[in-house]
Amino acid sequence: MLLKGISQYSQYNYCLFDSFREHNCIAAFSCGRIDLGFSNEHNFQVKRKVYLKKLRINFHDLICLQQVHGNRILLATEKEKGRGALEYNSAIPGYDGLITRESFLPLAVFTADCLPIFILDTKQRLAAILHAGWRGTKNNILQAALQILKHEFSSRAEEIICGLGPGIRSCCYEVGAEFNNYFSKNLVRRKRRIFLDLAGANLKQLIESGIPEENISDSGICTSCRNKDFFSYRREGLGAGRMMSVIMMK
Ligand SMILES: [Zn+2]
Repeated sequence: MLLKGISQYSQYNYCLFDSFREHNCIAAFSCGRIDLGFSNEHNFQVKRKVYLKKLRINFHDLICLQQVHGNRILLATEKEKGRGALEYNSAIPGYDGLITRESFLPLAVFTADCLPIFILDTKQRLAAILHAGWRGTKNNILQAALQILKHEFSSRAEEIICGLGPGIRSCCYEVGAEFNNYFSKNLVRRKRRIFLDLAGANLKQLIESGIPEENISDSGICTSCRNKDFFSYRREGLGAGRMMSVIMMK
């Protein structure tokens, strides 16, 4: 079911991007419907601990954001280690993306339909993770991250690899007519209904930023179609759990 370039470890509830692993970087997203978000009812700390242990990540080190559907990206250092690892209140407010230069600093985003995006500068050793829903995508969060890499760290597009995780895809993501105002492209029309191609929109941002197509791995997973393995906010509503996407250089 998964595209080439992704390995699924069902027994451990995660999938890994092979291209990142080749560069000594963990880029993983959860599967199998374990809720790793900030839900109080489900004892999420224990679930995170078990999940991350399999990836050889200390769950106390995790850096999490409050995720506000914006396009701001934080450069994370040792100082932020553990923010949001154990509770929502300590997660960093106001941001939807994280970049780091440091190894063994795990960065996470939580999603249920929105698209998690993984980025690695294989040469300069920089890792980034983004939470891109329609608002973040409309506000070009991905391009914002790539601009930071390019301008602040002199990253070169051809040395960057990217991964698109599980998200709601154009097969299922029906949107209202107002989306004609937000997206001039990336809308799919079927039988007078409008669907947004979130992954396609971000893929275009990558290509337009000069990232070679062969450097991009797309999981191809639609969270709504594959609701047996993934959470979908659209399909399940307020009670939907959250997948964790995590990146960490070694
Ligand atoms: Zn679908």
